[in-house]
Amino acid sequence: MTTSQQPLLDGKVALVSGGARGMGAEHVRRLAEEGAVVHFGDVQFDLAGTLAEQLQSKGLEVHAHDLDVTDSASWQNVIDAVAARHECLDVLVNNAGILDMAGLEESTEDSWRRTLDINTSGVFLGAKTALPLLKRSRAASIINISSIFGIVAAEGYLAYTASKGAVTTMSKSMACTYGKLGIRCNSVHPGYIETAMLDAELNQLPEGATALLHTQIPLRRFAQAVEVSEVIVFLASDRASYVTGAEIVVDGGLLAGR
Ligand code: NAP
Repeated sequence: MTTSQQPLLDGKVALVSGGARGMGAEHVRRLAEEGAVVHFGDVQFDLAGTLAEQLQSKGLEVHAHDLDVTDSASWQNVIDAVAARHECLDVLVNNAGILDMAGLEESTEDSWRRTLDINTSGVFLGAKTALPLLKRSRAASIINISSIFGIVAAEGYLAYTASKGAVTTMSKSMACTYGKLGIRCNSVHPGYIETAMLDAELNQLPEGATALLHTQIPLRRFAQAVEVSEVIVFLASDRASYVTGAEIVVDGGLLAGR
């Protein structure tokens, strides 16, 4: 909570995709701690259920759902469940994603399609399905999780870069289209954040990669997931009332220079 102890998100209803673990789980926790009712979905439904029980035991109002972001019917089920309980949806965090480090030659047609399906089409389907409920909000916020690789590239990561670059520009399109309805939309661009996804990435990089990456990051460390969640809370809140169409980089300064 803020220093004034006034929850930032009192009365708001939020939905987070990929919320069972990693950054998504931290977003769920922090949004709920700030007073939002938080619905979240994941393909890891058992993990989502366990997280929901943990947070509910702390008095937080969270609801876990079975959600595959590539499936429009799955999205519709979740939105129907939200609509059955609430008048509107105020915050949509399109967080679910997968890592794909393959470059052009290592990528297959299947791996390319899967990465684009989850990372990009998942955002499209989420926003499209949620839009009627978001339109009923007094001040809605769509937060799409891109990556530093939605702004710059690195060796390899072909489909991943394409998928996250699309999220960057889709977010601006949504901001331009729905601003007149009071719906804000921003993209968030994490750098290296300590989750299972980063563990998997580091396992595939040459030995010494962690130390090398740390020297390239001005803050000289990777981030904890909650450091991204604090930005999500801000963007979800009315304190960000004039922030839309923006690329919010959370990377310890990595993209700031060489
Ligand atoms: P994570 O720890 O792997 O968690 C992602 C969650 O999303 C997992 O529970 C995952 O399930 C789930 N998911 C995958 N495909 C899904 C689908 N089709 N439908 C619903 N849920 C699905 O990842 P993270 O590190 O927290 O990353 C969260 C987001 O931040 C992703 O969009 C990622 O690309 C982005 N990001 C991460 C980093 C980083 O350093 N960690 C940096 C930049 C951007 P499975 O475990 O079954 O896949």
